[in-house]
Amino acid sequence: MAAMGKIYGGIEAGGTKFVCAAGSGPGNLRAEARIETTTPEETIGKAIAFFRELPEPVTAVGIGSFGPVDLDPASATYGFITNTPKPGWQNVERAGMVQRALRVPVGFDSDVNAAARGERRWGAARGLDTFIYLTVGTGIGGGGIAGGRPMHGLIPPEMGHVRIPHDMATDPFPGSCPYHGDCLEGLAAGQALEKRWGQPAETLPADHPAWPLEARYLALGIANFIFTLSPQRIIVGGGVMVQHGLLGTVRREVTELLAGYVDAPEVTRDIDDYIVPPALVDRAGVLGAIALAEQADD
Ligand code: ZN
Repeated sequence: MAAMGKIYGGIEAGGTKFVCAAGSGPGNLRAEARIETTTPEETIGKAIAFFRELPEPVTAVGIGSFGPVDLDPASATYGFITNTPKPGWQNVERAGMVQRALRVPVGFDSDVNAAARGERRWGAARGLDTFIYLTVGTGIGGGGIAGGRPMHGLIPPEMGHVRIPHDMATDPFPGSCPYHGDCLEGLAAGQALEKRWGQPAETLPADHPAWPLEARYLALGIANFIFTLSPQRIIVGGGVMVQHGLLGTVRREVTELLAGYVDAPEVTRDIDDYIVPPALVDRAGVLGAIALAEQADD
């Protein structure tokens, strides 16, 4: 674990921006920078420059990356982004570039797994060994910890792409996922909302029919995750979730969908404390990357 006084670096590597920070936790973030995601060389180069210019060197760096990412340490492409649809970023090396430039240990994980680590270290998942972290933003991603270990497996989970019932009579929108059409992400991500309703999600008023439909779709996904993974808590973040009242509607819909079958007081009595927003708010990702760095330094 972290020794006193050490400074760690975190990179939340997103498809639109990289957030870099240095510090040792939520109460001690000494520097932070936002870098627009352009080409891999330019973006990663700027991130490396940020750490080089700090008054104190970082002991280790953690990277929570958009993906899909290769997390198999035995693989030749470990620490790479693999077949992302994002132009220019296919098969891009991440971890090795940062490691060679800064000569410190580098921890690497998917963006949502990193955020999950942050919430476990300092936030809404302290003391839990099986939970999931979902983000509902431009896309939908999900990761987490199972039995105390980050969910990796074959590839990092792709929870946004589960299939859910889609009633074409009430919602004729075909879905926006380039791979699956009407998977969860294709129906309920920010991008889907914008395409279906012709305006960005954040401009849809609170009484718009978009929101009950959105809550229903998210609840269908979450109910599936509860039945399959049996998480002790579900943390739901991301830009779409800032819509007032949405999380409350999702909780009610989930309760209805489970129909009393999951016999645990966390679900049947304390759903408000079971499906929760990230305690680290919009810093879960970058703080999670710092938690990754701390672990890489072990
Ligand atoms: Zn999909």
